[in-house]
Amino acid sequence: MNWYQLDAEKVEKKLHVTADRGLSGKQASERRKQYGENILEAKKNTSKWLIFLKQFQDFMVLVLLAATLIAGLLGEYVDAIAIMIIVLVNGFIGFFQEQKAENSLEKLKELSAPMANVLRNESWEKISSREVVVGDIVKVNSGDRIPADVRIIKSNGMETEESALTGESLPVTKHATAITKEDLDVQDQVNMGFMGTLVTRGSGVGIVVGTGMNTVMGQIASLMANTKKMVTPLEMKLAELGKILIVVALFLTILVVGLGVIQGHPMYEMFLAGVSLAVAAIPEGLPAIVTVALSLGVQRMIRKKALVRKLSAVETLGCASVICSDKTGTMTENQMTVKEIFLNGEYLYVSGDGYQTQGDFFLHREKVKRSFPNLETMLSYGMLCNNASIVVKKGKNYIDGDPTDGALLVAAKKLGMTEELGKKFRIIKEFPFDSDRKRMSVVVEDENQMRFLITKGAPDVLLPRSAFYMDKDSRKLLNKENKALIEGAINEMANKALRTIAIGMRSISNNVSLDSALLEDELTLIGLYGLMDPPRKEVKSAIRECKEAGIKTVMITGDHVNTARAIAENLQLLPPNGLVLEGHQLNRMSAEELSNVIEDTYVFARVTPEHKLKIVKAFQEKGHIVAMTGDGVNDAPAIKASDIGISMGVTGTDVTKEASSLILMDDNFATIKSAIQEGRNIYENIRKFIRYLLASNVGEILVMLFAMLLGMPLPLIPVQILWVNLVTDGLPAMALGLDKAEEDVMKRSPRNPREGIFSRGLGYKIISRGILIGIVTLIGFIITYQNNPDNLMFAQTTAFSTLVMAQLIHVFDCRSEHSVFARNPFENIYLVFAVISSLLLLLVVIYWPPLQPIFHTVSLSLRDWLLIIGLSAIPTVLFGFTKK
Ligand code: ADP
Ligand code: MG
Repeated sequence: MNWYQLDAEKVEKKLHVTADRGLSGKQASERRKQYGENILEAKKNTSKWLIFLKQFQDFMVLVLLAATLIAGLLGEYVDAIAIMIIVLVNGFIGFFQEQKAENSLEKLKELSAPMANVLRNESWEKISSREVVVGDIVKVNSGDRIPADVRIIKSNGMETEESALTGESLPVTKHATAITKEDLDVQDQVNMGFMGTLVTRGSGVGIVVGTGMNTVMGQIASLMANTKKMVTPLEMKLAELGKILIVVALFLTILVVGLGVIQGHPMYEMFLAGVSLAVAAIPEGLPAIVTVALSLGVQRMIRKKALVRKLSAVETLGCASVICSDKTGTMTENQMTVKEIFLNGEYLYVSGDGYQTQGDFFLHREKVKRSFPNLETMLSYGMLCNNASIVVKKGKNYIDGDPTDGALLVAAKKLGMTEELGKKFRIIKEFPFDSDRKRMSVVVEDENQMRFLITKGAPDVLLPRSAFYMDKDSRKLLNKENKALIEGAINEMANKALRTIAIGMRSISNNVSLDSALLEDELTLIGLYGLMDPPRKEVKSAIRECKEAGIKTVMITGDHVNTARAIAENLQLLPPNGLVLEGHQLNRMSAEELSNVIEDTYVFARVTPEHKLKIVKAFQEKGHIVAMTGDGVNDAPAIKASDIGISMGVTGTDVTKEASSLILMDDNFATIKSAIQEGRNIYENIRKFIRYLLASNVGEILVMLFAMLLGMPLPLIPVQILWVNLVTDGLPAMALGLDKAEEDVMKRSPRNPREGIFSRGLGYKIISRGILIGIVTLIGFIITYQNNPDNLMFAQTTAFSTLVMAQLIHVFDCRSEHSVFARNPFENIYLVFAVISSLLLLLVVIYWPPLQPIFHTVSLSLRDWLLIIGLSAIPTVLFGFTKK
């Protein structure tokens, strides 16, 4: 027997569940234990050992290990072991960095894992899809992915797209009745919903009959295991840069070695020094640090409620120059309250706030009663043509479902209406709401089997479909005059920033087919609702900050043009000469015409999701980097086409989330601003540590090169070079990755996505500081060597300390694009900690007797330190004054 052949009741019995209660928590956890989680493949882990070994596969490291081995064989045990240990420690650090990056990426994936709406213990809960078990009752709406294989027991115009399973991209209409035929193909099982397929329209409820690998999708899952690691453009750019740097470093090292040999240094000594220098100077760890910086930034974003789905978005965020944002729910609270009702040609005012069901109706300050003509009809229709419900949690009312629907329910309750209504009237057909149609209808049958249709939707959509309107006591033909009256009312409400909804109805004779779209015509307009949805408090200042940061904010909404304009003005989003465009105007515009006005347009009203794509393209055409938000199914194409697709964590559908690169966990516009700010900061931090690492490396190479050119002894020995690379490069560079943003980071204009890493003076800064670091180190070496010609170790210790100190001072310079004096050096506590620990390690290496022979160091006096500190401060302080 197949599931699709069984009646819903039989399925319930077989799976020991009732559709109106769902499983109990205990049942669910038992089943999860028995059948496992609802996931497709057991994830395969790369072995930790492999990741560890990978740290040593670098060519230069291998050469270094070989050279060390030779040194060991030649009897230089101390050097050999010291180098080995340093290489090992380096490997560990690389390993931990990679693990950290890996783990945070893993965590990210979990956070953005899909959720399912299930009935457990008689109440609807949102749980992670992986926790769904056989027997669960699940509810799906348009835009959701079906979390498991289900037998559908209720369908409201539910359609699904199953091309992943069948190759057929046309939507399939689903229903709930059993099918008697046997041996049906997947596409003919129209009362089944399959895991991973998409609900494109309507909604439905189903009983889970298969999870995990026991689903149709599970059977073909092995075909689609693609877990390729994504590389971001920046990582790619850096990999390219890395290759160039390797060539340059190798060339310079060979130069150093060649010169050394010509100047009479022993071949073997120069070889080991050269290899160590190459290892130190090649920034092989750069891509890993970048990944760590990116993923740490991603975690900071999560704390600010922005969930990055694609690492590359972090970079693009910093380039955003236009944000196209939905109004409803993103700029506003999505807390709708009916404030006004237009009925019989008069305005009623409704008191009460939020979703509290206490409130009254007033006409000219007089309270009106339930008997007020048509009021009860209008509110009860609003209640019937409705998919939301009020739930009480801790004494507070919340809306389960669309807040617009919720507001109408609350208004009906204020008049004292109850759910009893649903018993008198039976809903036999629903045409669901979507942003294209901008309306929703139900066909209702009353106790006498009389049928009628209720339509609720945007008034300017309903008005052309109406032939009559309801006056105080009778139905009247809709003529020019009262049409103008109603239009006036719509405009007046919208001007007050109210969202407008109209209610219409018509009777239907019992022999008319209910499938016809023509039903929503020749309506009798009953009245209008005016709903208030206050702007979110943080949005106004977020829009202002974006403006200062050179980012334009554009509002996009399906609402009435006047509502949109009123809210845009309230948020100071619309400048005095800014344009407002409507969907019907967009329809008539060619791409070129739109392109002419797009820079001056700030609000798009009464648009459908298709318009969004046109808007994104027009902005991109102008060279903008566009961030676009969306929540519904139809928003996915525009989100995909934009540079930064943003979806809603709370109200968003699975499709839009999958298409997006950023999810707002709180649906809040202000979160986009925070994410952009963080995106800019991360990029700046990456620039900071690239600057620090490369300037350090330039200094290291140059001091050796200069010494060889001048025919001097080696200023640094191999172990010292490797130590510098390990200690000064490691921790301080990481700490720069955690630096706070400079104050003016949101006062600069967006970064050009095509700009190179070294632009805006970074290349000059690296070279100039690097050269100076090399020079002061060499000066320290020469001065000490000339005063103590027979104590080379002393001179080397001085050079070693000067180099380390110069880098540790320079690291503070790297925090600012302006000047080292522009920032408080103690602000970044990680950096202070990193510098102090590097400093302590330096002292240990210099003063601790057991280490002295290993690092070829001697104890230094206070006078020596005065020289060292004086010299090492020069590169940073000097440039601090020139501000270049
Ligand atoms: P947005 O989300 O940008 O505010 P929508 O497409 O949701 O735009 O809504 C457009 C219009 O459709 C609204 O102005 C309102 O008149 C109408 N509308 C919104 N929600 C509903 C609903 N649940 N039922 C009927 N009509 C609705
Ligand atoms: Mg909406």
